[in-house]
Amino acid sequence: MTRLIVFDVDSTLLAVESLDFAVERALSGLPDGAQRAARLSAITDQGMAGTLDFRASLEQRLAIAGLTREAVEAAQEALRQQLTPGMAGLLADLRKRARVAAVSGGFADLIAPALADLGFASGDIHANSFIYDDAGPQAGVSGFDRDNPLSRSGGKAVVVRALKNQAGAAHAVMVGDGMTDYEAFAAGAADAFIGFGGVAERAPVRDKAPAWARDVDALARLLEA
Ligand SMILES: [Mg+2]
Repeated sequence: MTRLIVFDVDSTLLAVESLDFAVERALSGLPDGAQRAARLSAITDQGMAGTLDFRASLEQRLAIAGLTREAVEAAQEALRQQLTPGMAGLLADLRKRARVAAVSGGFADLIAPALADLGFASGDIHANSFIYDDAGPQAGVSGFDRDNPLSRSGGKAVVVRALKNQAGAAHAVMVGDGMTDYEAFAAGAADAFIGFGGVAERAPVRDKAPAWARDVDALARLLEA
C-alpha cells in the first residue's frame, strides 16, 4: 500500500523562506534595501499567519523585489547551502518505504537545485515559476505563471490531491510549517498533517496541527508511527 509524504519547502526542507532570501540578497547594498526587506518580511509573516491572501502576498513581494534573472540564479546557488540540517538523511530513509514529493508556494527557479541536492527528481518538485520580461541576464521578473494552482490560496490542496491520485496512495501525509500546509490537510487532500517547527514556529499552525514536530528527530519519529 503506497504512502505519500508531501513536504513543504520554505522553512521546512530549507532553513529559510526562499523568495525572501533571494530578495534580501538582491536588495542588500541598495539605498532603500533595508526598508524594502522589512516590508517584505512583514508581508511573508502575514501570509504565513493566514491573514493575507496567498496570491496578494506573492504579488506584493514580487513588486517590492525587483528581481533579475542574474539575481535569481545567484540565489538559486546560495540556497543550496540552506538545507535544513538532518532533512537529507530523513528523506533518504523515507524514500525506502514511501513516495516523497515537495510542494511549494515558492519558485522552482529558486529551489530546484537545492531540492535536487536533497534527492528530489524534477517530477517530484511542484512549485511556481517566474515569468521574465526578456531573455537576458538583466531581464526582470515581471510576474509568475498564474495558471499554476500553487500561485493561489488553496493551491496546495489541489496539487496534493492530484499527487495522491496519481500515486494511487492509500494515505497522504502533509508536512510543513505554514498555514497553507495545514489547509491542504483541512481541505481533505492529505489524510494527516504534521506541523514542523524546526525552522520557524508559527503559533496559529502549531495550535491547529494534530501533530507537531519541534525538530527533524521528532519529525522522523512521527513519520515512523
Ligand atoms: Mg513553509
